[in-house]
Amino acid sequence: MRQVVLRRRPIGLVAIEDVEVVTSELPELADGEALVRTDLVGIDAAARTWLDDQPGYLPPVQIGETVRAATVGQIVATRCDAYEVGDVVTTLGGFAEYSVSHDDLFTTVIGRVADGTADIDREALLAVFGSTGATAYFGMHDIGRPQPGETVVVSAAAGATGSIAGQLAKAAGARVVGIAGSAEKCAVVVDEFGFDACIDYRTDDLRAALREHCPDRVDVYFDNVGGPILDAVLGRLAMHARVVLCGVISSYVSGEHPGPSNYVKLLAMRASMQGFNTLDNWDRYDEANAELRRLYDRGQLRFRSHVFEGLDLSVDALNALFEGTNIGKTFLRP
Ligand code: NAP
Repeated sequence: MRQVVLRRRPIGLVAIEDVEVVTSELPELADGEALVRTDLVGIDAAARTWLDDQPGYLPPVQIGETVRAATVGQIVATRCDAYEVGDVVTTLGGFAEYSVSHDDLFTTVIGRVADGTADIDREALLAVFGSTGATAYFGMHDIGRPQPGETVVVSAAAGATGSIAGQLAKAAGARVVGIAGSAEKCAVVVDEFGFDACIDYRTDDLRAALREHCPDRVDVYFDNVGGPILDAVLGRLAMHARVVLCGVISSYVSGEHPGPSNYVKLLAMRASMQGFNTLDNWDRYDEANAELRRLYDRGQLRFRSHVFEGLDLSVDALNALFEGTNIGKTFLRP
């Protein structure tokens, strides 16, 4: 099997020399283990943060270990009662053709051959019904709480989480304005994801564009990026606005978190700003998936896949989110 291991800790973006693609024998299974063939690796911002030597909700990947990432795959051999050969599972299989799973909370059976549920769209699974969709749902549903007629702004709107978050707000009856990093992305945000408008923050005067597209100010801001974009939107908040602090991707790589000076608007506007972690809502994934499924089946939720083919493109895939080269959910097919 081929897998990508960490050779040294990246500084900034991941460099080719930070990782190595190695070939090894398939692992011998011990009692309680199952072998998973990886069909698709889902690229999340967290995969990059796990390469730093920083404590988080999961331990850092150690030098010599497989680069960790969320995966969907199929059980091909098992010595674990929890899994049958043919089961489709989501797990943390990482950048590898195969991984070993145990009966723990990191591996979830999604489909079974025996009951005819193994024929699952893997891309939709990770883009809409996995933690990406759940993140959009919990952030928008619990904190944003958009009401019909309100104005919702979403940053990284062409990305995996932002595209779903905006569509959820649209389904709730809000007017939704995206912020994204190119004209091509903005076209996708409006034409494919159905947002009402999209601001290209690289070329537009962001503050002027927010005034133009949000004449009644911003009731909900779903923030994926932090930094100057967060500061600009805070300056346009409406009374009793809710700011959903989902992520700060603009500063994960540099580790520097500037500002925002416009936080004082929270006071003037009696607004709130709240962070959240999707994993805290682990026991509510069924609720999230039920709502995402309902909208998806009605055609109100679309996703886009950005696929890297082969483990040799792991570095490009890991960097895509931070360079903004992706549109929609980013995957790697090993
Ligand atoms: P994504 O949106 O598919 O990709 C990241 C996007 O961020 C890029 O395409 C790029 O889009 C934008 N970006 C990168 N650097 C930027 C910068 N310096 N300034 C402005 N925009 C920048 O990624 P994702 O996996 O869905 O993650 C989105 C956010 O959700 C991340 O911050 C992540 O940490 C967060 N998240 C939070 C939770 C939670 O539990 N709170 C769970 C999962 C993910 P543009 O070209 O448009 O700039």
